[in-house]
Amino acid sequence: MDALLDVKNINCGYGSLQILWDVSLNVSEGEIVCILGPNGAGKTTLLNSIMNLLSIWDGTVSFQGNEITGVDTSNIARMGVGYVPEGKYLFEALSVYENLLLGAYTVSDQNEIKKRIERVYSLFPRLAERKKQASGTLSGGERQMLAIGRALMSEPTLLMLDEPSMGLSPKNTMLVMDAVATLHQEQGVSVLIVEQNVKAALDISNRGYIIEHGRISYSGEKKDILESKEIQEAYLGV
Ligand code: ATP
Repeated sequence: MDALLDVKNINCGYGSLQILWDVSLNVSEGEIVCILGPNGAGKTTLLNSIMNLLSIWDGTVSFQGNEITGVDTSNIARMGVGYVPEGKYLFEALSVYENLLLGAYTVSDQNEIKKRIERVYSLFPRLAERKKQASGTLSGGERQMLAIGRALMSEPTLLMLDEPSMGLSPKNTMLVMDAVATLHQEQGVSVLIVEQNVKAALDISNRGYIIEHGRISYSGEKKDILESKEIQEAYLGV
């Protein structure tokens, strides 16, 4: 069976500076897969190249068996890839509700939009409480919930999250990770999650990849990653 997302031998970078070296990874339907690695390893570059926000030099990206290398980002999104970039870009002057509406710009059926908004509110009750509030005034945790909620409005098959725990308290990190796990369990969404918070990411993941200096240095099941002495020393502070 084809993987849901299949990245094969990607090389890319900025100008003449190569960042990713022969990177391959895949996500199967129903999996939560994490990409771990230190600052500057190339994690964001990898997600951006999957979304074609950055052109790859060579290699291929396939989604649901179709090659999407070079396909417009908006079409990749339409095909079912939701992307929540680091930095939680929101329309600051618009309300929580309006931001969610914008996430459903491809949907015209008003009842369907209503249903999706209610689904986001049930996943993140805090957003329901703040639906009329301008998103620029939300807390860090609430902004992350809204960024994820907005991506969910297009009902993605695969959700890609770039460091959702960034800037969040341990409590909010848990809240966001729990919501991702619920989403996966209840709605069957597959997830590719980039994190520096190794424990939080592994907690909800089935498998993981470690990327160092733009190369995949390790990949394995959650259990293998947790039991690897090398990884524990390097990433888990053991
Ligand atoms: P972090 O966890 O710090 O976000 P990361 O693993 O996501 O790190 P990237 O953001 O992908 O790493 O960056 C990888 C390398 O590419 C870094 O050395 C970074 O300085 C460089 N880089 C990123 N964006 C650009 C750009 N637009 N132009 C030039 N170099 C860039």
